[in-house]
This record gives sequence, structure tokens and C-alpha cells, in this order.
Amino acid sequence: MAGVCPASAIAGTVMTVLVTGANRGIGLEMVKQLQSRGMDVIGTARKPGEAAELKATGARVEQLDVTDADSLAALARRLDGVKIDMLINNAGIGGHTAASFAETDFTQLDKTFAVNTLGPMRVTQALLPHLRRGEQKTVIQISSRMGSIEGNEGGYYGYRASKTALNMMNSSLALELGEQGFTCVVVHPGWVQTDMGGAGADITPEVSVKGLLDVFAGLGPGDNGKFYDYQGKKIPW
Ligand code: NDP
Repeated sequence: MAGVCPASAIAGTVMTVLVTGANRGIGLEMVKQLQSRGMDVIGTARKPGEAAELKATGARVEQLDVTDADSLAALARRLDGVKIDMLINNAGIGGHTAASFAETDFTQLDKTFAVNTLGPMRVTQALLPHLRRGEQKTVIQISSRMGSIEGNEGGYYGYRASKTALNMMNSSLALELGEQGFTCVVVHPGWVQTDMGGAGADITPEVSVKGLLDVFAGLGPGDNGKFYDYQGKKIPW
């Protein structure tokens, strides 16, 4: 990684970071650790009324369902004039887990793509004006190693494909927006103890997020379009 400068240390400015799916799991932990690193944080939740833990962090809380165009348009309007330095597309679902192709449920597959692939792209598009106002111009896609074709161990058709497609979307985004000063990066958070990862997962949200934020802090233009894990190791496509 280029290690240009810690993202929080742009002279005289406080970074504003928006995290989707911030009411639990990795997203909630992101909000907490970003705040403790001095960032202004906007955390979104599908149901802010039920997001007690997120509200308790003191972050700005906004409603957002990443699959809902009206919800997105309303968010963009409420944030009119606000700059966003870093967008973290974190919201996601485990989706279809059938091990066999014959069992694939296409309704579930549609949902998985709507949240995991189209969601991050919709959010990025809706918030582009806000990102253009920011100094950092960074877009982070929380993807998964399970989207790596080279590392494929089979099964989880919908989830894997949704993350592979997200990775490709980011690759094109990086090519287009890189010329305009953006850094668009895909990351794998590790196998994390959340509702999605389960209690038997390898690492806690605290460890995953600390690693991810250290990676984000070292990002520079040379990282545009790359795929890293939470320890900064490159993941094969
Ligand atoms: P959780 O299931 O704990 O949390 C998922 C979050 O996404 C919740 O806040 C949830 O909100 C939100 N979300 C789901 N659907 C939508 C939607 N339509 N609109 C807005 N928000 C939505 O998952 P994790 O924290 O573990 O996962 C976070 C990200 O990390 C995901 O993208 C996941 O694919 C990725 N990841 C996780 C791994 C792990 O081991 N945990 C491994 C690799 C990648 P709500 O509470 O309203 O449902």
C-alpha cells in the first residue's frame, strides 16, 4: 500500500465517514472505532428506531435500506451540502447457502444480489456528489474472500457470486473514478463473530475492524482498484 497519510490526519480537517448497515456487527464496531480515531461518523440503519446501540455511540444516525431507491434519494437529500470523505459499503446479507446448484432458490438469489451487489453501487451513485466534496474521495466495498474465483471452495452460489460481481463493479468504478482522484477498494474483513459469521468464527469484530481501519489509514492512489484483507494482505481475484 502507498501509505500516503493516515486518513484522519489531513491537515486541519476532520474526516466524515458514512457506514451502511451500522446498527450491528462489523458496521456498528466500525462506527465505534472510527469515532475513537476522531472521525465524524454517519451510521445508517434500515430501522433507526431499533438501533439503540448505534444511537448510543453519539454518531449521526440516518435511515437507509440499500435496496430502496426512495430511501436512498431521501438520504441524499437530507445530506445535501454535507461532504463525505469515505463511504464504507458494509451492509450485506449471507443470502443463499445451498451447497448444491440444483437447490438454488432464485428468489433468494435476487435478494442477495439486490443487497450485496446492487446496494453498494446504488449507494455510491447516490452519494457521489457528497464524495466529490470530500478531501479523501475513498469508497470501500466490504466484500468477502468468498467472492474470490481463484480461492473458490464451492457452494454458497448466491453469496459468492454477489461478492464477485461487487468486486468487478468496483474494478470498473476504480478505473472511471480513479482519474477523478478517487480511491475505490475492496476488502475482506476476515471470518468475523457476528450474526452472519457465527459464534465460531475466527476473529472478533474488534480485531477485524482495527485491522481494516489500519488498512484504510494507509490507502493512497496506488491502492485504487485493489482487494485486501483486514491485515492488508492482497487477495487473489
Ligand atoms: P451482520 O449480519 O451482523 O450485519 C449485517 C448488517 O447489514 C446489518 O446492519 C443489517 O441491518 C444490514 N443490512 C442488511 N440488509 C440491508 C439492507 N437492505 N439495507 C441496509 N442495511 C442492510 O453482518 P456482518 O456485520 O458480519 O457483515 C458486514 C459485511 O461484512 C457484509 O457485507 C458481509 O458480507 C461482510 N463479511 C462478513 C464476514 C463475516 O465473517 N461476518 C466475512 C466476510 C464478509 P438489519 O439489522 O436491519 O438487518
